[in-house]
Amino acid sequence: MATSTTRSLLAALALVAGATAAAAVSSGPAAAGDAPTTHTGAADVDPDRPASPFWVERVIAEADIVRELQFPVLLGAEFADTFGACRGEHCERSHRGNDLFAPKLRPLVAARSGTVTWLRTDTAGTAGNGVAITDAQGWRYLYLHVNDDSPGSDDGANPATWRFGPGIELGAEVEAGQLIGYLGDSGNAETTPPHLHFELRTPYGFDIDPFPSLVAAVAAATRPS
Ligand SMILES: [Zn+2]
Repeated sequence: MATSTTRSLLAALALVAGATAAAAVSSGPAAAGDAPTTHTGAADVDPDRPASPFWVERVIAEADIVRELQFPVLLGAEFADTFGACRGEHCERSHRGNDLFAPKLRPLVAARSGTVTWLRTDTAGTAGNGVAITDAQGWRYLYLHVNDDSPGSDDGANPATWRFGPGIELGAEVEAGQLIGYLGDSGNAETTPPHLHFELRTPYGFDIDPFPSLVAAVAAATRPS
């Protein structure tokens, strides 16, 4: 089923009902014992890390896992299934997520309720500004290339108010659909159209193709109730 190369570009025009980009947040640190202990620290979200062992890749590809989530870009985005595609000059990296293309500063919303378990604000490296949310079951949702420009510019000034949503800090608890940041082009996306690089990790830390879950999120948001 997961013939990713044959999947065509999907224009996602989903207005996610109820994703109000509300500024109301609960920004207190997670209570002791609430935070998953297996995925803390920056190392396991390094986008340059090697891919999972081949047998894991195969099992996961066959499974075609769909995780119920809110579409992470408010008002939608265009995306294609490029999970596993070559990256780098000589294919030395593998694309570990899907790229969601939309205008700069479009609100990014929490795909699931959870805790902010990783945050990068220095706009550096491949990933640029980024944030990760881990939900109650230990699944992780990673947002890269978060905005680093002043509105209406490509100045790279990295203004704090245009990176992440109010109250977004390590340990903050977020609700699904809550504003967590703004779409941008930080890191190595400076030379590409603005997009969100979105990754999905299982509780065991394996990165899986988010494409089926994103398609399901679009379908759920557009289904008449
Ligand atoms: Zn990407």
